Amino acid sequence: MQQANQDAWPPEAFRLKLQQWSREVERPLPWRAEKDPYRIWVSEIILQQTRVEQGLPYFQRFLAAFPDLLALAGAPEEQVFKLWEGLGYYSRARNLLRCARLLATEYGGRFPDSYQALLALPGIGPYTAAALASFAFGLPHAVVDGNVERVLSRIWGIQTPVNTASGKKLFQELGQSLLDRQAPGPHNQAMMDFGALHCTPRRPLCPSCPFQDRCHAFLNGQIDLFPVKWKKTAKTKRFFHYLVFRFMDQTWIRQRTEKDIWTQLYEFPLLETDTVELAPETLLRLAPFQGLLAHAQPQRLHPTKIYRQTLSHQIVHARFWEIPLRSEPGPDQTPGLVAVSATGLPQYAFPRIIRWYLDEKNLSLDLF
Ligand code: SF4
Repeated sequence: MQQANQDAWPPEAFRLKLQQWSREVERPLPWRAEKDPYRIWVSEIILQQTRVEQGLPYFQRFLAAFPDLLALAGAPEEQVFKLWEGLGYYSRARNLLRCARLLATEYGGRFPDSYQALLALPGIGPYTAAALASFAFGLPHAVVDGNVERVLSRIWGIQTPVNTASGKKLFQELGQSLLDRQAPGPHNQAMMDFGALHCTPRRPLCPSCPFQDRCHAFLNGQIDLFPVKWKKTAKTKRFFHYLVFRFMDQTWIRQRTEKDIWTQLYEFPLLETDTVELAPETLLRLAPFQGLLAHAQPQRLHPTKIYRQTLSHQIVHARFWEIPLRSEPGPDQTPGLVAVSATGLPQYAFPRIIRWYLDEKNLSLDLF
């Protein structure tokens, strides 16, 4: 593991430059200077793997629905998932709820005020624990997110990939050594803001940068080379064929309960295959819910265009087969399915790829 050269910027000099920069910039976010651990926690969880512009309306809706920890702890799972719909990474929503309920029952409805105790909570890793510890409780823990890693890697010219265990350790240690222990919250905020607003991934504002005269990447014309990342393996491709059965204004959906992507979200009955192209006869032969298919009109079987959603490790390709039924199926032909009318669909939380399909159907006024 490469050692960061502490001489590139002595901590005191670095902090001084950062403070000067921060005084001149204000990032107008609702959670800036926030001290309430609940609001900090919700914002940090929403912003994991989500851009600020995308996360902001979710944050506002979430707090309007659940203004405090106890409100969230008492919320039904369905409501939380519905509010999370479209944000992706649904394990975050699951952990939010688990954590809120644990805090309500075991911690008297409050967050513990130590880094280690925060770290032990569901869904709270080193990053979120450091954010809560420093922003809410003024404890000296450095927050090192992707923005901070980029800044440090460029200034110090760090070759260790950021997405490896040794890289995480190196960046965390360097961040901690630079921390202003008297004012950890403002320092962390300034570091994150500097990465998000000034030392941006593309086109950083080097000409007006206070660290320019000792920034390794700038001085060596290597800005595009940092942060160094370990090349990830190719994403797995998956091919989903959704069966949109319809009888009058009714369709059938199911909740995903398997240990897989999108657990607890809803979907249409699914046939997963190893190809996106599928002949109607093959679909009819392989599809689940053969009892429902007995009511179908096979000659009217057409798939939609291909929808594509990229996840962290997978790319999902989906086609929707709209299957009109001649007669209404009985409950014994729809085990595990929920019958729902077209107007009732918005109440359920779906993966984004299904929401895109439903939105397009609505736009063309063609939903059932
Ligand atoms: S000089 Fe450029 S690359 Fe270096 S820290 Fe400043 S903005 Fe980032």
